Amino acid sequence: MHIETLKADYLIIGSGAVGMAFADVLLSETDANIILVDRYPKPGGHWNVAYPYVTLHQPSQYYGVSSVELSTGKKDQVGLNKGLSDLASGQAVSAYYDEVMRHVFLPTGRVQYFPMCDYRGDGQFECRLSGKSFKVEREKTVDATWLKTSVPSTHTPNFKVDDEVNFIPLNDLTKIKQAPKSYVVIGAGKTGIDAVLWLLENRVDPDMIRWVMPRDAWLLDRENTQPGLEFFHKTMGSQAGQFEAIVHSTSIENMFDRLEACGYFLRIDKSVRPKMFHGATISRAELEELCRIKNIIRMGRIKQITKDEIILDEGAIATSADTVHVDCSARAVDNEEIVPVFQGELIVPQMVRSYQPVFSAALIAHVEAAYEGDEEKNRLCGVVPLPNHDTDYIRFTAAFMMNQYNWGQDKGISQWLLKNRLDGFSDMVTSVSKEDTEKRAVLNRIRKNAPMAVMKLQQYLGELG
Ligand SMILES: Cc1cc2nc3c(=O)[nH]c(=O)nc-3n(C[C@H](O)[C@H](O)[C@H](O)COP(=O)(O)OP(=O)(O)OC[C@H]3O[C@@H](n4cnc5c(N)ncnc54)[C@H](O)[C@@H]3O)c2cc1C
Repeated sequence: MHIETLKADYLIIGSGAVGMAFADVLLSETDANIILVDRYPKPGGHWNVAYPYVTLHQPSQYYGVSSVELSTGKKDQVGLNKGLSDLASGQAVSAYYDEVMRHVFLPTGRVQYFPMCDYRGDGQFECRLSGKSFKVEREKTVDATWLKTSVPSTHTPNFKVDDEVNFIPLNDLTKIKQAPKSYVVIGAGKTGIDAVLWLLENRVDPDMIRWVMPRDAWLLDRENTQPGLEFFHKTMGSQAGQFEAIVHSTSIENMFDRLEACGYFLRIDKSVRPKMFHGATISRAELEELCRIKNIIRMGRIKQITKDEIILDEGAIATSADTVHVDCSARAVDNEEIVPVFQGELIVPQMVRSYQPVFSAALIAHVEAAYEGDEEKNRLCGVVPLPNHDTDYIRFTAAFMMNQYNWGQDKGISQWLLKNRLDGFSDMVTSVSKEDTEKRAVLNRIRKNAPMAVMKLQQYLGELG
């Protein structure tokens, strides 16, 4: 079989949000040539197969590639995100990445893009359409597939579903032609939340919805993630509140109580202690809507759905042929395994700042472009582990705070952060004037408590073993 040989400085596997953010910084900060390979037809990764009513969960300002703005700069005037920065729709995100590829990356003459290609390892890939095979001679390989993003339309549920059951991914809610008797939404993560909100938005009676929630989740308040000085007291205030809650806590449980009391965490039902934390972000108006669902099934995970029963860890509930079961059990970013980011000729982008995979990929690319030696690069890019259980918040916050401290000590990175559009916060902090005593007081609370918060988190990590 003929294998065509190609040459590039970097071979990037995956043109999702992570691969695109990485490539963008390499193009801006180096002279490197890049080959991008992906099995999807368009750049943007999982956005190729997103559900039609999906939007970003965090403000558009922090998403995309560093060199091209995604946000319209508008605030929502209606709906459950009213008063907060725009959340780009899935279609807008897909169109954005297409635009970036066609009008920014390819015109540089330094990018070769291979959609519809399966990477086979060892620099080799094969085109699904032509059957042609390629081998890339390269300096470095970037594995931008590590987070293993999983979305309902492409994942296989980890429970059995009998043939007669009306079972659909949340994407297919838009294909419903006649209202069923009821809905069962499966999964309490952000996609489950999206499905419930979309049904309610379309005037489905809350009593028609049963929500299978194996674990309740701690949620983040979107108002605390807003760009711009007008939200300073929410964003920076919530950071200050977070550190104080950690420092003054008397136990792990007490820390979560305090984090909720200061407005850092939200939850759907105050009588149920969350056991899950995936960093899902919602507005308070969305939370209020979710609280209209009274029929929440807390009986563990589903094992099987038959034509008349849903069998869970802790028992069974009735179902019927005219019930639509909506699969929201895929976990967005899924890979809890941690490896060093820089491994000689291999680079594996992972999260280096909590909740921000795209910013993380851009920063890792900057470190690759501007620093020498894997040891130093890995020191600057400590991996922030993906959270799953509630207590993972401790591990993840400690790792992120250590990175933030290291970046603050490094003049080059501090300056880069100020200029990078994906990092809204450094700029917000430096734009506070000396005379603004109220805002200065908030920053002082952060500075004063951050070291003690790290120590307390380390203590809790020790207790958790
Ligand atoms: C509904 C939803 C909303 C979200 N909202 C936000 C948000 O508001 N803000 C935020 O920061 N993050 C958000 N996220 C997380 C997020 O979108 C990031 O996009 C996440 O990091 C995924 O990007 P990725 O590039 O790692 O993964 P993917 O999008 O999955 O990209 C990986 C790419 O690798 C390709 N690939 C994998 N293996 C191979 C192979 N062998 N050969 C060829 N190609 C391969 C895949 O085809 C894919 O295109 C959201 C996620 C979801 C699901």
